[in-house]
Amino acid sequence: MLSTRVKLTAAFVAGLIAVTATLVLAVLTARNNAVYHDIALYAAAQGDLAARVITDAAKAGDSVLATSDTALIQRLSPKVVSRLQSLPGYIVVVDTAGRAVYRSNDVMALQGSDMATLQSQLADLPNSGEALIFNLDSRQERVLFVSHSLGGNPPRLSRIASGALATRATTVPREYLLDALIIVPLIIGVAGIAAFLFLGRTQRQLNEITTEVAAITDGRSLHRRLALSEETTDFADLMTTLNAMISRLEMSFAGLRRFTADASHELKTPLAVLRADVERAMMETSSQNERMIALEEALQEVRRMSDLVESLLTLARADEGRLDIHKEPVELQPLVQEVYETALILGEAQGVTVNLPFTADVVVMADRTRLRQLFLNLVTNAIKYTPAGGKVELGVGRHPGNVTFAVRDTGIGISAADFPHIFERFWRADRVRSRMSERGGFGLGLAISQWIAQAHGGTLTASSRLGRGSLFTVTLPIESDGQPSDNAAR
Ligand code: ADP
Repeated sequence: MLSTRVKLTAAFVAGLIAVTATLVLAVLTARNNAVYHDIALYAAAQGDLAARVITDAAKAGDSVLATSDTALIQRLSPKVVSRLQSLPGYIVVVDTAGRAVYRSNDVMALQGSDMATLQSQLADLPNSGEALIFNLDSRQERVLFVSHSLGGNPPRLSRIASGALATRATTVPREYLLDALIIVPLIIGVAGIAAFLFLGRTQRQLNEITTEVAAITDGRSLHRRLALSEETTDFADLMTTLNAMISRLEMSFAGLRRFTADASHELKTPLAVLRADVERAMMETSSQNERMIALEEALQEVRRMSDLVESLLTLARADEGRLDIHKEPVELQPLVQEVYETALILGEAQGVTVNLPFTADVVVMADRTRLRQLFLNLVTNAIKYTPAGGKVELGVGRHPGNVTFAVRDTGIGISAADFPHIFERFWRADRVRSRMSERGGFGLGLAISQWIAQAHGGTLTASSRLGRGSLFTVTLPIESDGQPSDNAAR
């Protein structure tokens, strides 16, 4: 297999050949045309000179035609003939009957076959000044003829055909072509070598970057970054992008490690309690009543672990994008009413007053089960983190383009230092107290709630003050006319 370097160099050289060939062809054509143009001008100038000789003689009152003679060449007066003979090149003077009344020495010197060609070609020579080019085979030459009209002055003379050798028109471009055939391959060769060397340098730099990235991403060196050097400035953008990617990889790995450690830690405690309970139940000295209590506690721990595993599965599937959201039009009012009624029962057990002072009749495109889970998470948290005697208030608000579900409590609130972490997985303010107390959760509820809101194209936001209470708000998109919006990500 050819290397990329060879392929790119070949493509570059091929392109260069195509461009130079077109250029050389264009120059040759232009050169060719210019030479023909020069020859035509020269021939026309000769014709003009010959015409002037004839018209000057006529003006001076000299007889132009020697009427007494019979031979064609002698039909111009000897004086005019001798003047015309001083002009070089091919000159033929034609009378109104189309006969040649004068042929210059060059014409006379032509061999029989060429003379015949000339005669037949001259009969076709246009009077418009256009040039006619033809071959003189015996001389292996090309000639170019132009016509100069005498317009019947002097009478009986029609025109002068003057010609010049056009061989130069083919030899000059040929010389150019020979030059081009030496210079162009030289230029292409040099450019090809330069491209090959340049690509070699580029490939070396890319190889260096590849080796470095491979070394960094082997799993143990994710803290390292690609170092920008003068050598690799051409790839600065690529390296910056790769560095950003490595940073994201490092963060995900760290997150994964933390997640695994947290999950194992969370399972360790209930497992230890479960073991102790089972051991207690199995003790021969335990009474029937003690055994029942130990087994009940064990059951509670098993429930707790099931909840944890359920939450972990939800998040894992959400991360993989495997957790589908089945959207359908959902009326918010009945759903919120249902959540409110559950909250009333929970609040009563905790000594917390729950209110639903305002609601709105809005339909949203949502997964009913997930939406209920989201609302219940927020409401249970509010009740969980509000001491007895406190208040929890729910509310639905309709706005242009969206609808909000808000839960406000007068509970313990969240400190400014803790606040940025509340949506992190396994994060709980005051972990020890949380776990020891009845209210101890796993710190996964808000992470799941935020994912549900985002999966509906919405947001979950919070504001809180330590000791004063918190406000959690879910915002979901709706069409501005109140129809459910389906533009949320599935
Ligand atoms: P948990 O199961 O621990 O409640 P969450 O993810 O639901 O987990 O909440 C994370 C942490 O955020 C909680 O441990 C708690 O410290 C804090 N938090 C959540 N809601 C409230 C609230 N309404 N008032 C005070 N703190 C809250």
